[in-house]
Amino acid sequence: MKIGILGGGQLGKMLYAPANKLDIDIRFMDSMTEGPVSRIATHYTVGDITDYDNVMAFGAECNVLSIEIEKVNCEALKELEHQGTIVYPQPHIIELIQDKGLQKDFYKQKGLPTSDFKLFDSIVELKASIENGAIQYPFVQKMRKDGYDGRGVQIIRRESDLTQAFPSNFITEDLVSIDKEIGVITCRDAKGEVVVYDPVEMVFHADANILLYQLGPADIDEETVARAKELALMTAEAYGIVGLLAIEMFLTPSGELMINEVAPRPHNSGHHTIEAALCSQYENQVRTLAQLPLGAPDTTSASLLMNILGAEGHTGPVFYEGLDKILTIPGVNVHLYGKTTTKPFRKMGHINIVGRDAKELIKHYQFITDNFRVISK
Ligand code: ADP
Repeated sequence: MKIGILGGGQLGKMLYAPANKLDIDIRFMDSMTEGPVSRIATHYTVGDITDYDNVMAFGAECNVLSIEIEKVNCEALKELEHQGTIVYPQPHIIELIQDKGLQKDFYKQKGLPTSDFKLFDSIVELKASIENGAIQYPFVQKMRKDGYDGRGVQIIRRESDLTQAFPSNFITEDLVSIDKEIGVITCRDAKGEVVVYDPVEMVFHADANILLYQLGPADIDEETVARAKELALMTAEAYGIVGLLAIEMFLTPSGELMINEVAPRPHNSGHHTIEAALCSQYENQVRTLAQLPLGAPDTTSASLLMNILGAEGHTGPVFYEGLDKILTIPGVNVHLYGKTTTKPFRKMGHINIVGRDAKELIKHYQFITDNFRVISK
């Protein structure tokens, strides 16, 4: 069996490890000549994953195809599926999730909780809706396609903000009052068996809206944990997805859970499962693609996950300053993605700290932020 993955970034690199462990032939295609996977995978094709012909040619080499990023050519995947190649997640699901407008419509149709929203083609239509009172400030504006890491999302608080609004093909959403942002990962196989990981929680800087780290398991009561897992399972079932589904949710001050968005692939919010769960999200994805039984998702340890970002003022060949100091801390797992050059805020890797409890993990986190930097010499 040959498993092909569209995309060869860090998520691909982390899929490679369990495939290698199980001696499964896994191959990748990415337009980067030197991406995180290129140096380790035995089969690596340089090609454009958004191009119909490139995806068709790569697909012809594989029995099973999957993705590690949503921005792929779905027409080619549909044609390959039609010709008998197994494609997980199914191409129609990738296509739906690529578009935040269709995604929100889907939750509404299925009765799954999400914030109220409206679809717009243009800013002229938006202004008309504001004038006739259908939309009120403040609200959230999101590009329907190609947004990531918060790019493509903004809060419009007053009329003057409209000058910076995205001009076309966007949605607006009610601004939700958020107590916590929670992530839950599910993995559903072709037989309909499904596993669900414990919810994790994103911790943001109090003033600047910057993600500091992620805590696993989330600091929420048992009843909310159960509801979050149930909602995640219902969402995976509603899609009928085969493979991983990461569900980002908001928990409101009154205890309500709402789906923000989902990702049909391995997700950052599941990096910690490599060291803090019985079977990682990556291994479960590989097992699903290889039609092997799912592994247990149980949490084995508390974890704190932080991104390793390029330091401000440094662009060029990468140097990890202080790596020797932080590697001596028990429970610190450093994952470097193999990107040869750094630039400010570029995601160069992540650190997953495992330990007894959040207090101990946050102490280590402080030490790391004080002693470790990604610079260029
Ligand atoms: P991306 O796909 O770029 O990650 P998201 O849709 O996850 O974008 O939005 C990025 C962030 O914006 C969320 O993590 C959350 O903090 C905030 N956000 C998004 N939608 C809303 C909303 N309806 N109400 C309040 N905050 C929101």
